[in-house]
Amino acid sequence: MAQTGSASTSKGVRPAKRAARAPDHAAAETSTAVNAADSRVLGVAITHPDRQLFTDPAITKLDLARYYESVAAFIMPHLANRRVALLRCPEGIAGECFFQKHMHDHLPAGVEVDGDMLVIRDIAGVIGLVQRGVIEFHTWGAKLPGSDKPDRLTFDLDPDPSTAWRSVAQATRTVRDRLVALGLTPFLKTTGGKGLHVVVPIRATLGWDEVRGFCKAIAQQLEHEQPDVFVANMAKAKRQGHIFIDYLRNSDGATAVAAFSVRARGGAPVAMPISWDVLDSDEDPRGPAFNVRNVVERIHAWRDDPWAGYAGARKALTAAMRRAAAAHDDGEKAQA
Ligand code: ATP
Ligand code: MN
Repeated sequence: MAQTGSASTSKGVRPAKRAARAPDHAAAETSTAVNAADSRVLGVAITHPDRQLFTDPAITKLDLARYYESVAAFIMPHLANRRVALLRCPEGIAGECFFQKHMHDHLPAGVEVDGDMLVIRDIAGVIGLVQRGVIEFHTWGAKLPGSDKPDRLTFDLDPDPSTAWRSVAQATRTVRDRLVALGLTPFLKTTGGKGLHVVVPIRATLGWDEVRGFCKAIAQQLEHEQPDVFVANMAKAKRQGHIFIDYLRNSDGATAVAAFSVRARGGAPVAMPISWDVLDSDEDPRGPAFNVRNVVERIHAWRDDPWAGYAGARKALTAAMRRAAAAHDDGEKAQA
């Protein structure tokens, strides 16, 4: 089980108080460097704690480490014991950033290698990776051991940037309704970008090809039914006003950004679990609406965790579901 640091109370898991208020940057700017003793997070010494990784809002490396510490109980169930891809930006988001899936030497405590791939075991591993310049955490759709059978579907909805929020919300509702009609329980998260991810916990009973085929059939079915709204084919993804349903996130080796991961983009956005009600609101939750500065407060303000039922919602993809999903397959099979 994930180590949750100071994040537990009798009422259940809550974010650590220390990070619940915004970091005091005014003080940081007027004083000299952070005291070394104050720059340890879960026992990990954060070097260059004052380094600004984001400028607007100003987020230092130490702030980022403390953010991850404060959401430990929320991020770890989705991050631990999966192969990961990391986005490292050692000089901050204005500097060079690179994706990394392998690391062989000097692994931080709490990080291990599975096959050739990195796996995070606990929150100290997350902090150790932030110390190495990691900002974003991306995960595979399968959990270890036995990562040949996915336990999650991700429908990566990528709207043309000109698409209005109301249209994106309506299309996302359509995706949800289809998954519910098939007997599944989907959950929603922001990406910190222009899209949304619809995530479905499943029982790990099928292999990658079958799971991806199922997702592809759903994407094609939606395109077939609403060709003015959805595009399932990457080659047509840039069509104006359309939403590309990227089902290829469900391939062996593909990743999706983890819930509660920060994004290395302007505004320090966070990929945030949200409730379906958000789709009824005119307030656009995308981009930096959720960010390093406000996520902990937002968690405190939750009446219910929008993903509370996640672990209990796993269903096996049955033969009947797979037949229903493929009912409108428009013959793009060769593309698989
Ligand atoms: P947005 O809402 O802006 O689309 P996103 O996280 O969905 O945000 P995409 O560009 O759609 O971004 O990518 C989907 C997923 O594919 C990402 O979450 C990431 O896990 C993975 N990905 C994207 N680019 C790379 C890359 N260069 N290397 C490795 N994985 C990547
Ligand atoms: Mn996307």
